[in-house]
This record gives sequence, structure tokens and C-alpha cells, in this order.
Amino acid sequence: MQRFQYYIDGEFLDGEARFQSIDPATGNVWAEMPEAREADVDRAVNAAERTLYEGPWAKLTATQRGKLLYKLADLIAANAQKLAELETRDTGKIIRETSAQIAYVADYYRYYAGIADKIEGSYLPIDKPDMDVWLRREPIGVVAMVVPWNSQLFLSAVKIGPALAAGCTMVVKASEDGPAPLLEFARLVHEAGFPAGVVNIITGFGPACGAALGRHPKVAHIAFTGGPETARHVVRNSAENLASTSLELGGKSPFIVFADADLESAANAQVAGIFAATGQSCVAGSRLIVERSIKEAFLSILKRKAEAIRIGSPLDMMTEVGPLATKRQQDHVAALVEKSIRSGARLVTGGQRPDGVGYYFPPTILDCDGVNSPSLTDEFFGPVLSVVSFETEAEALRLANDTRYGLASGVFTQNLTRAHRLMKGIRAGVVWVNTYRAVSPIAPFGGFGLSGHGREGGLAAALDYTRTKTIWLRTSDDPIPDPFVMR
Ligand code: NAD
Repeated sequence: MQRFQYYIDGEFLDGEARFQSIDPATGNVWAEMPEAREADVDRAVNAAERTLYEGPWAKLTATQRGKLLYKLADLIAANAQKLAELETRDTGKIIRETSAQIAYVADYYRYYAGIADKIEGSYLPIDKPDMDVWLRREPIGVVAMVVPWNSQLFLSAVKIGPALAAGCTMVVKASEDGPAPLLEFARLVHEAGFPAGVVNIITGFGPACGAALGRHPKVAHIAFTGGPETARHVVRNSAENLASTSLELGGKSPFIVFADADLESAANAQVAGIFAATGQSCVAGSRLIVERSIKEAFLSILKRKAEAIRIGSPLDMMTEVGPLATKRQQDHVAALVEKSIRSGARLVTGGQRPDGVGYYFPPTILDCDGVNSPSLTDEFFGPVLSVVSFETEAEALRLANDTRYGLASGVFTQNLTRAHRLMKGIRAGVVWVNTYRAVSPIAPFGGFGLSGHGREGGLAAALDYTRTKTIWLRTSDDPIPDPFVMR
């Protein structure tokens, strides 16, 4: 059995307690993980705070910080296969996806390496004589980062990269479900030469570890990715210290297909949009909103493609859909499918968890036309597509916005003016037109409504990890006059 350690103040440690990690493809224990509790959290935050203000990190130039980030990026690229295998083993995400995603994670660090010495302050044309006024941009402080089980290296990169570029120090809490890749990543942080305490990586359970981290008095900002219910706890905890938060939460993203769309392309995008990562993707295009005249034709293409998907071991390069990450998740998906069918949704394909080992669930399509199905409102975070149809563009838009979430959306049409109307009308942080699931370090990403607030990616994300300081400098040598008049 493999044993992992966590990383605090430049040291690899076993932790106060330990817990077992399960391989979702077999249901068997495969590794032992360190469990951080309040005392470890406290130690990690104190290390991060000390390093922020004292020692070598505080003295590095921004360019030197950038060089460390480039080195980390190179190490990730060189170790991508190993990291991918660990993520696949610990979370069940298929090796095809983890390999490609982790190779791209290196580019996120490169992007922020380049940004480190482009975070500039400014000089203000102030309305007073003999006065120079500047804004300095300084690191926001110690950042707590909390991520869910899916794509942990990616979801942490969009936090760690900009925070390091800005000069912050941090404590990263890997999910208790599948922490192996992030704990291994800590070894690369160490090898890259970041001073002790800059990046601390721990894992543990939500209440004992995540909550202790969020309410720690020395945490200035909490960058959270997870579900809205947990986010409410995070926000309550942040009140303790009045820490700022950025929240990247779930979604129930609409995928709109008009009759004039290239149906084969739209179907491929829809299949990837909902079944990639076994549906455990925050941007999953989980609500298909299809023009009524092509509904049956489009559904039959989707059904054929869904039934041709190769389900199997996540470590096999040929596998297209692997297991869900946990038994809890498999139970949740199965229960919500049953509830939706009881509410009147019609099963087009899938729907039954298979016999045998592992937390598998087949690609499933539910026709929800005319039904008040929970599958149209509740997030599965699994391979389940819910379908409704529309007659008019206005109806399509109304259905798309009929959600409390607002993370992503897709529109497939050849009609340019209609595409423009919809990209303005859809209430979501990302609109993909005739494409789906494209991401880039250069493009900001984040949600509206229950999908959270704050943006990851792009230059602005690095600025969000800074706070400004206003410097006033009087340039006159004349004595200061009457003290009771403000100037
Ligand atoms: P979750 O909210 O249950 O857990 C996320 C993290 O929060 C875990 O590390 C967990 O230990 C921690 N946590 C739990 N309780 C806590 C508390 N009281 N205080 C602080 N931390 C606590 O999410 P999950 O079930 O692991 O992941 C699935 C969810 O994540 C889905 O809703 C999905 O849509 C969302 N997600 C969003 C994005 C995005 O970028 N918008 C990306 C991936 C996943």
C-alpha cells in the first residue's frame, strides 16, 4: 500500500492521524493518507504567515518569483505521467483525461510565471500640489485554498499560480477524496526551490481541516472550489476573520441546439460536455435544450454515441468513461436518476448501475419534456443528461436561464445574429458558441448566482491576489501650515 505525507513549512510529515484512500475502480483500499486536523492547520498557516513577511520569499524580486514558477512548470511537465497515474488511481478519472489535463496544467504555471513581474502599481495624478501619490500592489496575505476531488491539480493550479505570481503564501487543502496527486505535487514544489512555508499542502476532512483553515485568524483570503452547500460554510467561516472569498461552485449548464446547427458536431460536443470525466465536471452541459423539430433525430444520434462509449478501467488508454470517484457519489447519482424517473422523466439510455466492482454508472439520458423533474434543477455531478425541447428562441433562452446556477453554457447554431443575442442573454460566466469545454490560462473563468463569484484565469486573477496600498509623499520642503485645514 502506498503511503503519502503532507507538506508543511518545507517538511514532509505523516500527520496527526491517517486515513485510507480507496481506488474507485475496484472499491479496494490502495493508499494511506495523512489527516490534518486543527493543530496541523495552525502550524501550516503560521508557517505561511511567517514566510510572507520574513525570510527569503519576502526578499525575492517578482522576476525571481517568476523563475521559480517556470521551474515548477517544467517539473510538472516532466512528471505529468506519474501525476496523471496517481490522479487516475485515486479518483477514477480516466488516464486519457488526466494525462492531457496535467500536461496543460504546466502551461497555467508558465502563464503566471510570465505575469509575476507584470503586476504593476500606478502613479495617481492627484488633485493637490506638491504631492506624489502611488498605488502599490502587495500580496493579499496568507491564502487558504480548498479544492474538491475532481481535477485537483488543475483546480489548484488556477489558484496557486496567480497567488504565487502575486507574492502570496498559502495553505492548500486537497480533498479527502483522492488527495494523492496534490500530495505528490508538493514534492515538485519542494524540488523547484520555493522557500519553506510558501506553499503548504495538507489534506483532511471538511469540518476538522477545511473549516479550521477557513476560520484561522491569519488567513486573508479563501479560494474555494466545491459545492454551494459547502461554500455557505466557507463564507460563514470567513466571517470569523472577515477574509475575502472567491467561490467556484457547481452548475446545471444549458446546452442549446438549434435546428440549423451542424448536428454531428453538436452531438460530439454534447457527449464530451456531459460524459467526459464521467460527468464530474463543474461545467458539465447537463441540460440539453434542443429545438423540437430536431429533438428525436438529435436524441437518436446522442443515444447511439452514448451507447458506443467504452466504459472500463480508468488506467486503460482506450477507456472513455471510468468510475465515479466515490461510493457516495455513485449512490447520489443512482438515487437522483430514480427520483427523476419517478417524477415522470423518460429513460432514453443508461440509468442502472452495473453489477460488479467499482463505482461505475453508465452514460444516461433522461427525456424531461413536460416534466417537473429534479434532474433539471439538481446537480448530478455524474454522467446524466436531462433533455427538454423548445419552439422559439425566446423559449430556449428562458429555459437556459431557468436555474439558480450560472457557470457555463453552450449554443449551437449557424445563425450569427441569433448567437449574438443569446451570448448577451444567457446568465452564465462562460458562453461557448459552436464549441464546448474550451479553457485556457488566458481566459477568465467563473460563475454567476449559485455558481459562485470571483474569476480564475487571466491577468485579473493575479491582481485579485493583491491588495493596494496608497502612498502619499509630500514633495515640498516648506513648513506644514495650519494643522486644522485638510489639504
Ligand atoms: P464539496 O463542496 O463537498 O468539497 C469541496 C472541498 O471542501 C473538499 O476539500 C472538502 O473537504 C471541503 N470542505 C467540506 N466541508 C468544509 C467546511 N465546512 N469548510 C471548509 N471546507 C470544507 O465538493 P465535492 O463534493 O468534493 O465536489 C463537487 C462539487 O464541486 C460540485 O458541486 C462541483 O460542481 C463543484 N466544482 C466546481 C468547480 C468550478 O470551478 N466551478 C470545479 C469543480 C467542482
